[in-house]
Amino acid sequence: MNTRAAELIRPEILALSAYAVPSSDGFIKLDAMENPYTFPEALKPQLMAHLAAASLNRYPDAGASVLREAIREAMQIPAELDIVLGNGSDEIIQIIAAACAKPGATLLAFEPSFVMFKMIATFCGLRYAGVPLTADFAIDMEATRLAIKKQQPAVVFIAYPNNPTGNLFSRDAIHEIITNSPGLVVIDEAYFAFASRSFLDEIANFPNAVLMRTVSKLGLAGLRLGLLAGHPEWIREFDKVRLPYNINSLTQAGATFALKHYVALLAQATTLRIERTQMLALLRTYPGVTVFASEANFILLRVPDSKKTFDALLSRKILVKHTGTSHPLLANTLRVTIGTPTENAAFLAALRDII
Ligand SMILES: *Cc1c(COP(=O)(O)O)cnc(C)c1O
Repeated sequence: MNTRAAELIRPEILALSAYAVPSSDGFIKLDAMENPYTFPEALKPQLMAHLAAASLNRYPDAGASVLREAIREAMQIPAELDIVLGNGSDEIIQIIAAACAKPGATLLAFEPSFVMFKMIATFCGLRYAGVPLTADFAIDMEATRLAIKKQQPAVVFIAYPNNPTGNLFSRDAIHEIITNSPGLVVIDEAYFAFASRSFLDEIANFPNAVLMRTVSKLGLAGLRLGLLAGHPEWIREFDKVRLPYNINSLTQAGATFALKHYVALLAQATTLRIERTQMLALLRTYPGVTVFASEANFILLRVPDSKKTFDALLSRKILVKHTGTSHPLLANTLRVTIGTPTENAAFLAALRDII
C-alpha cells in the first residue's frame, strides 16, 4: 500500500532505528539495570490495597501533588527547589528538549553516554553535538570547552554516574561546564542510589543547572516515574510542556506507598553495591578481562572478542548488553547489570568458562 509515510515523515526520523528491547523469556536478565529484587513481599498486600483504592474512572491528579510530596520527603529535595514528574526520566528528557527547541538550538552530550539524549534531540528537532570522552571515560575538558564555545548549546546532559561506563565524572569538570555554559545543564542521576556522590545538595547554587532522577533503577522500573528538581523558574516552564495526566493513577498510588518504604528500597540498593564490590574483585582476577570501576548497578567489561562472548553467554541463557559496537571507545565491551547472588554466580561461572 502506498501510504507515503516515507515522504511525509521527517528524514531524520526515517534514518533512525527504533530503541531495541530484546525478548528475555527464560533468560537470566542482566541487560537493563533493573533491580533484581521484587518489592518486599510483606508489603505487597498494603500496596495492593492502595492500588485498589485508586479511582480508575477518574483522570489522575494532574499535578500528582501527593506523590510529589512523597518524593520530596523520601529524597530530601532541598526546599528552594521545585520538582516536576515524568513518565520515566525519559519523558523528562523529552520535556526539556521540547521546551528548549528554538530553531537551530543544540543539545550537547558526551559519548559514549545514555543513547536517549541523542535520540530525543532528534525527535524534538534539536541539533545534536556529541563530545567524545577520553579513553578512560573522563570528560575531555579541552574538547568540551571548544564544543561549548562553538555550539553554544541550549542544553547539556551529563549522566552522573555515566551509563554505560559506570564512572562519576570529575566534579571540577562539571562545575566548569555549568559555569561556562550559555544554556541549561542537566545532571542525570539515574544511578544515585548506587553512587558515592550526588549534586542534590548543591544544585540550588547554580542558576542554570537542574537535577534529574528516576526510581527505575531503584526497583520500580515498571511504574515509570522520574523527576526533575530545579529552581522554580525552570520547573514552571517545563511543567507547561508536560502533558497534564502524564503520571497515571496506579503509578501515583503505587509510588506514593512504595516511597513510604524508601528505606527498604535503599537497603536493596546497598545489597547490590556489596554484590558489585565482590563481582568487581572477582572479575579482576579473570585473565583477558579488563574491568572498569563502577558507581552504578552495572559493570562494564572489556574482553578479547565481545561479540563471541555475548553470543556464548546468550547460548547459556544469560542476557547482558553488547556495548562493543555502539562506540569506538567501547570496542569489545559488555555491560552487565548486577543481579541476585545466584544470577551473578551463574554469569561469573559462564564467563570464566567462555574466556
Ligand atoms: C535508565 C536511565 C534513564 C531513564 O530512566 P527511566 O526509566 O526513563 O526513568 C535516564 N538516564 C540514564 C543515564 C539511564 O541509564
